Parts: sequence; C-alpha cells; structure tokens
Amino acid sequence: MDCIFCKIISGSIPSHKVYENDSVFAFLDIYPCSEGHTIVMPKKHIGLFTEMTEKDASDLFASVNIISKAVSRAFNLDGMNIGMNVGEVAGQSVPHVHVHIIPRKRGDNGGSMHSIVETNPGNENLADIADRIKELL
Ligand code: AMP
Ligand code: ZN
Repeated sequence: MDCIFCKIISGSIPSHKVYENDSVFAFLDIYPCSEGHTIVMPKKHIGLFTEMTEKDASDLFASVNIISKAVSRAFNLDGMNIGMNVGEVAGQSVPHVHVHIIPRKRGDNGGSMHSIVETNPGNENLADIADRIKELL
C-alpha cells in the first residue's frame, strides 16, 4: 500500500507516536499549526470518513476524546479545534482518514470552523434542507 500514513503505522516511516491501541494510531503532525498538533487515524486504510463503518468511526472518536484530554492538560490549553478535511476539495492531502487535534490558546489569532468556508446559502429553506438529509438516514 503506497500510503504515507500506512507506512507511519507500520513504522517504515518514523513518527512521534503519542498513542496506539488495536484500531487507532496517533502521532504529532510534522507541520504543526500550533504546539501539540496531533493526528489520530484508524490503523485500517480507509480513504474517506464517509467510507467508515459506524463502529470504526466510534472507535476513532473514542480515541480522539481520550487523546484530546491529554493534549489539553499537557499544554494547559484554553481550547482546541478538532476536525477533519474530508476529500480533496475540503483540503484532505493524505487519503487515509485522520482527525486533527489543533491546540488553541487565547490570543493565538486563529479562527473557528466558521472561517473554513462561507458560501452564503441563506437560511430561508432550512426545513427542506433538513428533509433532504433525513430522507437518507
Ligand atoms: P490533511 O491535509 O488533512 O490531509 O492532513 C495531512 C497532515 O499530515 C498535514 O497536516 C501534514 O502536515 C501531515 N503530515 C504529512 N506527512 C507527515 C509525516 N510524515 N509525519 C507527520 N505528519 C505528516
Ligand atoms: Zn493508508
């Protein structure tokens, strides 16, 4: 498998590992957005979050929860952004599912999730929008 994150899991590419269990591997981002920027990923190679099973996604986010608490305490954080770039259009550069834990401190001049994209779709048809999603659940 020619996947850089699979190689990190197997150890053929070195990383600063912070956590590992049967299904998840976490390590420091090599180009941190802030001190302690951590990546959490499933050991199984899956390209997109939307291709994961509920069980695999649950396991992944259970580990994100555990690790985020440690990162918060390690750096005495004021907060953090936790998120994923899903798909190339959203900025996913490595096609192996991963969650970013990005530490935040007051005064760091960072933005919120709302600064990622704003296409100004309006809010007049939110009931229809909710229906479109509900029909597929
Ligand atoms: P994304 O853009 O969401 O796909 O995130 C990929 C992340 O992986 C980026 O933040 C990179 O800095 C990080 N990254 C890429 N290669 C490595 C590596 N060898 N070790 C650690 N982090 C890496
Ligand atoms: Zn992979």
